[in-house]
Parts: sequence; C-alpha cells; structure tokens
Amino acid sequence: MTRFAPPTLYQCPACAGYFKRSGFRSLYFDDEIPDWSDGRNGNWWARKSGNVGRCPSCSGIVWIDDAEKLMLAPQEPRQIGPIARVWHLLTGDRSGRLREEREWKVLPAVIQQAEYFDGLVHAHDFIEALTSFSSDAQDRETYLRRRIWWASSDHLRGQRGVSLIALPSVAEDVAHANMQRLLELFEHDPKEQVARGELLRQVGRFDEAVAVLRAVKPDGYSEVKAVKIERLARAGIAELQNLKATPVRRSTREGATDLPKFGGVAW
Ligand SMILES: [Zn+2]
Repeated sequence: MTRFAPPTLYQCPACAGYFKRSGFRSLYFDDEIPDWSDGRNGNWWARKSGNVGRCPSCSGIVWIDDAEKLMLAPQEPRQIGPIARVWHLLTGDRSGRLREEREWKVLPAVIQQAEYFDGLVHAHDFIEALTSFSSDAQDRETYLRRRIWWASSDHLRGQRGVSLIALPSVAEDVAHANMQRLLELFEHDPKEQVARGELLRQVGRFDEAVAVLRAVKPDGYSEVKAVKIERLARAGIAELQNLKATPVRRSTREGATDLPKFGGVAW
C-alpha cells in the first residue's frame, strides 16, 4: 500500500503563506498498473507530493525546493470531553492531551488552517511552469518536459478499455517541439538512454532508437526495458505501448508486416 508520511509545513517563497505537503512512507505498485513504454506509471499520488505545484494561498507556481521547510505540520488534537478533561486534570495530564490542546490553541490561524499543496497534473500547468525558472535550471526543465511528454500521450493510455482522457491535451506542434528538446536534454545523460531510445522510436527514427537502446548499460532493470522497446523499434512500431500487455499490437505502418516475428511475442 502507498503510505504518506506525516505532513510537513512549508512557507511559500512568493506570498509567505503556509501550506502542508506529505512525503511518502512507502510506495506500492500492483500488478494492474501498466508499464508504459515512455516510463509513466499510474502515479495517482503525484498530486499530493509533486516537486512543483500551486500554492493554495496565492495560486502561484512553486517549486518545493524553493519553499522554506518549517516543521512537521501541527495536527488539530481530538476534542476532549468534559469527563475526560476532569480525569486528565486529576491525573496530572500524564497523556499530554491538555498540553497538546494548549499548544494548538496558541498557533496562528494561518498555520492551523494551512491547506495541502497541490502538485501539478495538467499539461497546461506544466507548460506554464516552463516559464517559472531561470534557463540554466536544466533539471527543472527536464522534469516539466517529461511530464508534458507523458501528458501528450495520456489519451492513448487505455486501461480496461477506458482512456485517461478522451482527446490529446497537448497541441501536436507543442508536443513535437517538446520531444525534440527532450532529445537534446537526454543526449549526454547516461541515466536517460532508455527514455531517449523511446523518444527516437516515437518520432520514427527507428535505426537511431535501436542503436541507443542496444548501448544501454545493464543495471538489472534498464536493459530489460531497453530490449522490449528495441523490439518495437525493429518492428517499425512508433505508438505508445504498455510493455506488460501481450501480445504486442501489430502496427499498420508500412514495413511492419515484414517483421512478423515480433508480433504476438509475450513479454
Ligand atoms: Zn503563495
């Protein structure tokens, strides 16, 4: 099960408002979650813990690394009934319930009422966020462009016959330019060679995709994924794929039928 750690209180760098954010205690992936070839998984929890989101006070885009981390977010104590209150008084408040209540009551209302930070989830928010940092912040650009890339394929992600969204959420020219820029960002990054191979496959540069994927350094995971994507590239298949799905869908692209040995392979 995915569990969240107790929320932390942050202060917005733009408006000085307070907000709460939960980190993860543990992550759980069940077998039902598709293994998408572009690396997106079923991260429903991203909204609560994303690295970039909107401040609930000023609605501005905030990178969590830019916000001041203050302390564990105070939690409102449970109400104390009249009989329990007498008992706590008589026993010297051994359980600390009266102390917790006093500490909560002296907190400023802006801290008591702090809302949760909402991680960005929509393509238009990620596109807007591209303008929210200096041009030398390449890790932030990569983070945003990878999510725009994922969002541009969300209408293709069916699970049990139902897509996440019905229509593309990113205009075709924006999606294309974004992929070209990601290819530049990933070119010399050894950690991103599987993603680079997948991008090359999706834009139809199959020979380059195969060359990049064959050169992926084994780490117990990346090379397995690289082999699966390489097979798709060799078969001339450019569409997004669930790498867990079997059999592999045959592409209607010209030339794909020349490589029938890749169709119907159970991965
Ligand atoms: Zn703010």
